[in-house]
Amino acid sequence: MQRAYDWAMMRAETDIVIAGGGVAGLTAAAAFGTAGFRVTIVDPAPPVTNAGAAGADHRTTAFLQPAREFLMAAGLWERLEPHAMPLDVMRIVDAGGEEPEPRVARDFVASDIGPLPFGWNFPNWLLRREMVARLAELPNVDFRPGTGFRRALARDAEILVDLSDNSGLRAKLLIGADGRHSAVRQAAGIGVKTTRYGQKAVVFAVTHERPHGNVSTEVHRAGGPFTLVPLPDHDGKPCSAVVWMDAGPETKRLAGLGAEAFNAEATARSAGVYGALTLIGPRQVWPIISQIADKMIAARTALVAEAAHVVPPIGAQGLNMSLADLACLHGLADARREGLGDRQMLDAYERRRHLEVRLRVSGVDALNRASIAGAPILRDLRAKGIAALYGAAPVRKTLMQLGLGVRG
Ligand SMILES: Cc1cc2nc3c(=O)[nH]c(=O)nc-3n(C[C@H](O)[C@H](O)[C@H](O)COP(=O)(O)OP(=O)(O)OC[C@H]3O[C@@H](n4cnc5c(N)ncnc54)[C@H](O)[C@@H]3O)c2cc1C
Repeated sequence: MQRAYDWAMMRAETDIVIAGGGVAGLTAAAAFGTAGFRVTIVDPAPPVTNAGAAGADHRTTAFLQPAREFLMAAGLWERLEPHAMPLDVMRIVDAGGEEPEPRVARDFVASDIGPLPFGWNFPNWLLRREMVARLAELPNVDFRPGTGFRRALARDAEILVDLSDNSGLRAKLLIGADGRHSAVRQAAGIGVKTTRYGQKAVVFAVTHERPHGNVSTEVHRAGGPFTLVPLPDHDGKPCSAVVWMDAGPETKRLAGLGAEAFNAEATARSAGVYGALTLIGPRQVWPIISQIADKMIAARTALVAEAAHVVPPIGAQGLNMSLADLACLHGLADARREGLGDRQMLDAYERRRHLEVRLRVSGVDALNRASIAGAPILRDLRAKGIAALYGAAPVRKTLMQLGLGVRG
């Protein structure tokens, strides 16, 4: 009995505890903090905010159109905009013939559906830097890097949260933004369905001979897509971030090649779309899976981002789905502040997000399987599919809107 009393009383009070200070958790803290909620955000791993530091995340994130409004409301867009690289065209190239050469290339052009680019690309380490700086401006946000979520006990009107530094908090809502192995999800007893493809991604940046013209290019051959996403010029040369997906052992081999051999293989795999590619930084290898949580809520708890769903990096869906989770949660909290974290709010979140997330995870899974296809007949089918989808303008426009998440 005494233990239960201690568990409840010896703790500071806040409105929202966010477990996880990745890009999703930091964005959540900025959004809820800007809206006036008291927020405590914890992460055992302090954010790396410098490209040259050990542990820096060298992936880039393409924020799609709908993300901008939410980032504005979170006070983040004005910080990010000076670093934004607009994406005006998404080019899909099939190079699945005998030689690694483009045989079908189709452009999805943002100006066909509106005045804005499809999205804007940023290095992940830079996102963390600007997001952490935004949190420092918000007196009602308490960011505790070096401290993790340990366990929670939900009661009717609040949730009691224990942290790894032995401190405790009482809050109305716990947000699990603690990634694909989410401790919050496990503590809530929520299961996941995981799909493994035996695939990994090598992530790196290159300069290239020809300018990218703000075009994001996905080259399909076998093993998964090879995607070039525009970055600002590097030392006066055109530059792109690359995600190269392939079978696990092959990515290991690629990551271990000397720079010259790697440049030659990367240039060949790109089907020469921008001429010779030259590596300009480290290579990082990321595992590729699909995963979806059985539910996105538990008592006084909401799961967001990779804690709830993981998809292969195709069509910039991952973090953009996460921002849609946050925008939904934020809208519900703002509309009925006295109901923060209650059953009504969380049920509405589950209803609005889970099916939509399920459909997107299935869609990206299908695209990835099509891209992995190595048999010539399947590659030919893929090339025909790309040409057919592009051929009909209404279908093309609908696909673009669906991809952006501006049409459900
Ligand atoms: C190669 C690659 C390229 C991608 N490109 C894009 C793209 O262009 N566009 C896009 O939208 N998405 C993209 N994605 C997806 C996107 O990167 C992810 O969705 C995003 O990084 C995941 O963010 P997150 O904050 O959910 O998870 P994470 O970045 O994994 O953050 C989770 C955080 O939780 C912390 N944590 C762990 N345990 C605890 C605990 N017990 N308590 C508190 N905190 C804890 C971790 O330290 C970590 O900082 C890409 C993914 C990959 C693999």
